Amino acid sequence: MPHHHNTIISLNPTDWEQLITNALRAHHIRLTQPRRAIIQWIAGQPALFSAEALAAALAPPPASVSRATVYRMVDYLHDHGWLARIQTERGLYAYARTMPGHHHHAICLRCGTTLLIDGCAILDEITVLLAQHGFTVQNHLLELTGLCQRCQVSAR
Ligand SMILES: [Zn+2]
Ligand SMILES: [Zn+2]
Repeated sequence: MPHHHNTIISLNPTDWEQLITNALRAHHIRLTQPRRAIIQWIAGQPALFSAEALAAALAPPPASVSRATVYRMVDYLHDHGWLARIQTERGLYAYARTMPGHHHHAICLRCGTTLLIDGCAILDEITVLLAQHGFTVQNHLLELTGLCQRCQVSAR
């Protein structure tokens, strides 16, 4: 009963890379060398990253991936649910790995560790409250940001 409880999933980068590789194959999208380099770089990020940092990292040889290719791929991954886009404390956009489907994310602002929250039970109370005010909720978006356990320990 996905609507009556929440499950927390910690997304492992190796699984993410494997899932996305399979999904691209299933969609008949060729895993070209630049696309492979982009996916591998993202999978290797411990932290939230910017499209700018990705473009800068892969511009020099041997990767030599063009900025246009980087930005197209980041848009593709975001549009297809493989990257969550969040606004950081400094007001810039950053990305974190995620999986397609309806999830909520708890993203560590320091290292980018992402917990996926499966299920929307957390919103039941507000939905009922809004209904009492004549408002019907049709859709929702909820992202949580904070510090993961490891970063809280290292901040002490
Ligand atoms: Zn963290
Ligand atoms: Zn939801």
